[in-house]
Amino acid sequence: MYKEDTIAAVATPVGEGGIAIVRVSGPEAERIGRDIFHRGASGNGRLQSHKLHHGTICDPKNGKVLDDVLTTLMRRPRSYTGEDVLEVHCHGGSFVARQILATVLNCGARYAEPGEFTKRAFLNGRLDLAQAEGVLDLIHARTEKGMRLAVGQVRGELSKWVEELREELIGIMVQVEAAIDFPEEELELLRREELTGKIDSLKSKILVIIGTYEWGRLYREGVRVCIAGRPNVGKSSLLNALLGEERVIVAPVPGTTRDFIEESLNLDGLRTVLWDTAGIQEGKDEVERVGVDFSLKKLAEAQGFILVLDGSSPLTQQDRSIMAEVRGKKGIVVVNKSDLPNKLSIKELKCLAPSHEVVSISAKKCEGINELKKRLRSCFLGEQPEPEIVVTNLRHKTALEKSATSLLEASKSLRGAMPPEMVAVDLQEANQNLGEVIGIVTNDDILERIFSQFCIGK
Ligand code: GDP
Repeated sequence: MYKEDTIAAVATPVGEGGIAIVRVSGPEAERIGRDIFHRGASGNGRLQSHKLHHGTICDPKNGKVLDDVLTTLMRRPRSYTGEDVLEVHCHGGSFVARQILATVLNCGARYAEPGEFTKRAFLNGRLDLAQAEGVLDLIHARTEKGMRLAVGQVRGELSKWVEELREELIGIMVQVEAAIDFPEEELELLRREELTGKIDSLKSKILVIIGTYEWGRLYREGVRVCIAGRPNVGKSSLLNALLGEERVIVAPVPGTTRDFIEESLNLDGLRTVLWDTAGIQEGKDEVERVGVDFSLKKLAEAQGFILVLDGSSPLTQQDRSIMAEVRGKKGIVVVNKSDLPNKLSIKELKCLAPSHEVVSISAKKCEGINELKKRLRSCFLGEQPEPEIVVTNLRHKTALEKSATSLLEASKSLRGAMPPEMVAVDLQEANQNLGEVIGIVTNDDILERIFSQFCIGK
């Protein structure tokens, strides 16, 4: 599972930039550093750990200088991977970095696999699995909130919570095990009740955290919202108003938005991808019908909708049939063109969409847009304050669910006066499942799946 060799990769993205970093980790890192790095006047003695050193990188084969660099050696165990790590900060530009990497590989290092540095950090106990997954989320974070959740995970907030639960659980297990070891101390009714109470409270704590998953997932992945409505109701105008700039052509000719447009909006930390399509109308010709089918497909794919209606005209049959399409989906009904006299029956609208919020706006005058953004956000996230611990990862959620189920079984067995051995088995399972979150219990397949999602060099 863990080869004791030395790995290397360029840790910075491909392309031109100020600096690029070549990263080397493993038992040969220091020796490779000695082979390729030269400090000139200050000599080539043993590099002091955790310090930046100025010098040149030379190809040991021919002595050619490759670049003027800063190098740092971090001796184990105080490094990211827990092994000796050498970092060469060279000039940005993928050619320079690649040349240095090639030299490092010629000196005996192996090209790192995706996420291999972080995998080594995990295997060497520098990070637990939840923290390592937090690193991945941090790299992929697209909003400030998503980034904050990931930082919390890297800093071990979730792991600490899991550890506390495990301690509580182990306390309960000790009492149950005692009843197995000393059968004369049969679990009498009072102790059974006390233990059941403790198990139930533990289970409730886990269920609360499982309940944050949807919230966390939305923050991490964002939400896809389709702007729906018949042509000319002001969908493109609304998209422009939401984005705060003229991104889409607005024309008085119905069906102007032929192509599909995707734009991203940050709703106070919630990344929202907005889809604007050609509009939904009873297709007259073949081209229009294809456009309508496409619009309906995007509407079905999206997690939410903004249904735009034209408030300056009565509801049409098309409006009604689009409303039927969005029934059961999360979203907001928008009555646009509030700057014009209202001709739309709000009463009928409320009957047609009883479970959706209705917001009146003028996309043209940018009125009601902030209110719409607020309602859209709470339509997905609700109004509750941010929970302290948030589960954002499906793997964690599944492990916690399994743990809660085992606790439920344990509590049932206790109530049903089952032998303590049976209770102990369920509790052990609950404990194992908790351990899965932080990687105490794991297998190669899971590790492979997690670390292959990382980029090379991380
Ligand atoms: P789409 O086909 O649904 O994307 O509609 P557009 O955004 O292209 O707008 C169609 C027409 O309605 C254009 O002439 C817009 O200027 C006009 N329009 C859009 N929003 C408003 C509004 O809030 N008030 C008024 N008076 N006109 C609007």
